[in-house]
Amino acid sequence: MDLQSLKSPLAFLGELVPASQLAPLKEYQSWWLTEGTVISEAVDRAGTPWLRMFDQLGKRTDEILFPPDYWKILKRGYQAGAIWRPFADDSKSLRMHYLIDYVTCFFDAGLGCPYIVSMSTTVPLKKYGTPELQGRFLPQLLRRDGTNWQGATWMTEVKGGSDLGANVETSARRVQQTVQSADPSDPKDLWLLTGDKYFSSNVGAELAIVAARPEGAPSGPKGLALFLVPRDRDQGAIVSEHGSAPGAAATGSRQLNYFIRRLKNKIGTRSVPTGEVELRDSEAYLLGKQEWGIYLILESLNLSRVGNITGSVALAQRALADALIFAEQRIAFGKPIVRHPLMRRQFDERFAQLREARALMWEAIHLLDEVWQETPRYSDRYHLFRLIAHLAKYWTAELAVQFAKWNMEVHGGLGVLAEYPAERWLREAMILPIWEGTPHRQMLDGLEVMERKRAHEMLFRHLAPYVDQSDLQNISARIEQHLQLPAEAKEAGIEPVFRDLAMFTARALAGKNR
Ligand SMILES: Cc1cc2nc3c(=O)[nH]c(=O)nc-3n(C[C@H](O)[C@H](O)[C@H](O)COP(=O)(O)OP(=O)(O)OC[C@H]3O[C@@H](n4cnc5c(N)ncnc54)[C@H](O)[C@@H]3O)c2cc1C
Repeated sequence: MDLQSLKSPLAFLGELVPASQLAPLKEYQSWWLTEGTVISEAVDRAGTPWLRMFDQLGKRTDEILFPPDYWKILKRGYQAGAIWRPFADDSKSLRMHYLIDYVTCFFDAGLGCPYIVSMSTTVPLKKYGTPELQGRFLPQLLRRDGTNWQGATWMTEVKGGSDLGANVETSARRVQQTVQSADPSDPKDLWLLTGDKYFSSNVGAELAIVAARPEGAPSGPKGLALFLVPRDRDQGAIVSEHGSAPGAAATGSRQLNYFIRRLKNKIGTRSVPTGEVELRDSEAYLLGKQEWGIYLILESLNLSRVGNITGSVALAQRALADALIFAEQRIAFGKPIVRHPLMRRQFDERFAQLREARALMWEAIHLLDEVWQETPRYSDRYHLFRLIAHLAKYWTAELAVQFAKWNMEVHGGLGVLAEYPAERWLREAMILPIWEGTPHRQMLDGLEVMERKRAHEMLFRHLAPYVDQSDLQNISARIEQHLQLPAEAKEAGIEPVFRDLAMFTARALAGKNR
């Protein structure tokens, strides 16, 4: 097995993705090799950036102080087309976004996050925003020169992120009134949000989509709605019945619409700031129908999940690439360690697993491309996508962690030293299974879509042309048997079944792409 393609994201993707689709990314990859990598290392070493909450005159400003070069690496991906490219033609394909994420995450797993959450903001705005909202905000997100606005997706609150229906306490109050804007006669359907978001990545973004519960809405997930929240209040913003939002002193002509309480001090993904956000009568715009809120939240989560899948495969590749480069140079017992039979076999096995994970990723991207424009009620194809996305999110994040750990082992004692990158990839990898929904969530949501939508039957029909039929029958029988178990046993025993289904699916799809 020739392992050399491991060393370059585009070479590895090129075994699967047509060269014409990768051509626009050559310059981006080269830039990372010559300039980006050094900046990324410095940003990681610098650790959590500073939050400047007040300016010198004591006015609230909530600025995040990264080293200046940070903005250079961030802008490079936006210029390459992380957000604008998918909307530059009529193809309606999000593929280029995810390919840019892939190259980015090979070099810096945290930096993929701003692109992913910006896309997860752009898509619901494009699908569900009123023409007025789209006209006002989309051009800012789609700028091509790196001056674009960024997006963010804030759902999680202090009581926990898995059970959003129970734990989102942010409230939304509707105020239909005239806002003083460029056109004073322009009435806006405005909402005011109050609450705290506890894990808010890409904090500081100019726009965020936020889960909140409108006053009077039912409890549980069905009562949630999705809102677009700009960072700045409208010019000459409304004064709510509570007066100006606390701390909303004007900064020049700006008034902050949300406040950053503090930044999280994370073990990894330091190239995206994650903070706690206070919403205090924050101006917001409803996206889509109020009663569709939970579906819209899950749609945006699914977009980010595919980003997480892409980032996980890229990081897993990076870990294997670094292990290979080291193992080709390190001599033990008279030859490079990669040439010892046990080590070589471990490389070959992991390379095969990585290719399977790549196939799983590519299928998730393709299916998402087919269904991302759907609105509730969704097609069967959408439910198939959901199942594949749950399997892939779970399995690729798991592989990223395993490979990052193994890379450390290949480096021996050098692997644990903070001056070399092996420890960084392990720190970065540990976050991938958790954000965008933990492994438990993927398994339980995967179980739900199999039970309620029979998505496993669609999956097996989808895979049938590429697999041995008796293997297919075996796994199909195992899933059906599992679904017949009493509720508690079904949840308790899902892990090995789900893992095997994920591996089976990945292997089958790798056969399809061979
Ligand atoms: C670096 C980072 C950045 C983040 N950025 C964002 C962001 O930008 N926006 C955002 O909204 N969120 C963000 N999150 C939050 C993330 O989505 C949550 O951490 C995640 O959803 C899990 O929620 P939790 O941490 O509150 O854990 P909890 O929901 O409290 O869960 C704790 C544990 O219980 C498990 N569990 C829960 N229910 C069950 C069950 N029924 N059966 C079995 N086990 C269960 C969970 O899987 C988990 O292992 C971020 C998280 C991190 C680490």
